[in-house]
Amino acid sequence: MNPNPQIFDVIIVGGGLAGLSSAIHLSKYNLKVLLIEKNNYPKHKVCGEYISNEVLPYLNYLGIDVFRLGAQKIKRFELSTPKSKLLKSNLTLGGFGISRYVLDHALYEKAKSESVQTLQDIVTNIQFLNDEFSIITKNNSTYKSRVVVGAFGKRSSIDITLERNFIKKKSPFLAVKTHVKGDFPKDLVALHNFKGGYCGVSKVENDVINLCYITDFTAFKAYKDIDEFQEEVVFKNTYLKTIFKNSVPVFEKPLTISQISFANKSPVENHIIMCGDSAGMIHPLCGNGMSMAIRSSQMASHLIIDYLQGKITSRVVFEKAYQKSWNNEFKTRLKVGHFAAKLFSKNQLAEVLIRILNGTPILLQKIIKQTHGKPMVVK
Ligand SMILES: Cc1cc2nc3c(=O)[nH]c(=O)nc-3n(C[C@H](O)[C@H](O)[C@H](O)COP(=O)(O)OP(=O)(O)OC[C@H]3O[C@@H](n4cnc5c(N)ncnc54)[C@H](O)[C@@H]3O)c2cc1C
Repeated sequence: MNPNPQIFDVIIVGGGLAGLSSAIHLSKYNLKVLLIEKNNYPKHKVCGEYISNEVLPYLNYLGIDVFRLGAQKIKRFELSTPKSKLLKSNLTLGGFGISRYVLDHALYEKAKSESVQTLQDIVTNIQFLNDEFSIITKNNSTYKSRVVVGAFGKRSSIDITLERNFIKKKSPFLAVKTHVKGDFPKDLVALHNFKGGYCGVSKVENDVINLCYITDFTAFKAYKDIDEFQEEVVFKNTYLKTIFKNSVPVFEKPLTISQISFANKSPVENHIIMCGDSAGMIHPLCGNGMSMAIRSSQMASHLIIDYLQGKITSRVVFEKAYQKSWNNEFKTRLKVGHFAAKLFSKNQLAEVLIRILNGTPILLQKIIKQTHGKPMVVK
């Protein structure tokens, strides 16, 4: 351990959307912030890359104009069943398509310009003793702070070190993502289901189509490789077959991730304020994980500022306040999202659901409204 560790007001572990947003927000209040991210920027991530417009006011506050970065405005939505029955709708609030490669990089550059100290390293342990955190990294450095934001995403080695409950359970989901060039409307996001999973399709910057699917490992492992799985399972949905077959890959090979867990987590653990997927992950078929990540960072930042400025006088009150606001904002969303994703995973039921929703556009609009949330208020 370093005998003279550097001391910060806040250390943020993980530099995805949650970590970067809170880093920028906190640095606006002259707090000494260290952001530790294990990877280099820019980097592609497995993600559907469709974001609800609810985050636009806050991203503008953070100094990010997504349309200058080439984001595509998305106003229409399509959903199809494994048997290729189609449902169409307009998106009242709408969203935009932008790659994580571009968005995370822009936030990172912004954070640096706002005097956030950044470090590329892997956090291996977070200890809390005498009202102070010690962060230990793979390079054997130690950093100290009064507050730690856990923004290390859906699954990290640090979850194992912290012995978080969800990490002990195996998760059956894996995801595949690629970028392609081809014909696809700029203003459309499509969610096409196939047996055991679904694929999100929408355009991002530079006229590129993002294709990202999530599936059950048991469905996947019966096949030799991704190509065979796509031919035998994914392409049974004729919309997906048309898109995949009539486009040209931009990536050399698709990106994959496994062990995606939607299990319950706690927004405060070992006194760490968890943001984004570290606090809880919604099924991407029915929710907007990226806007939840950004929204949770704003909530955490407000409370961290109040705590460090002495407006909240105890750590217990501070942690309870975050736990309460996180649960108020997201707990029902998560429950509804998981329930709806389960319904759609039952193929016969999905066909019936689509028929019902096609006949009742008001119900469909209500469900879309639930998943999009309300535009964020900048305070
Ligand atoms: C298949 C799939 C499709 C999705 N599609 C969409 C979509 O279309 N729209 C949407 O809104 N959401 C979508 N989501 C959800 C969305 O991707 C996440 O909710 C969002 O990325 C959460 O952001 P985050 O900052 O919490 O985590 P991340 O973006 O995962 O960032 C966490 C960061 O922490 C770093 N890290 C981890 N451990 C350590 C460590 N020990 N030390 C240092 N750094 C560390 C990682 O390198 C990473 O950069 C999808 C998710 C999946 C799996």
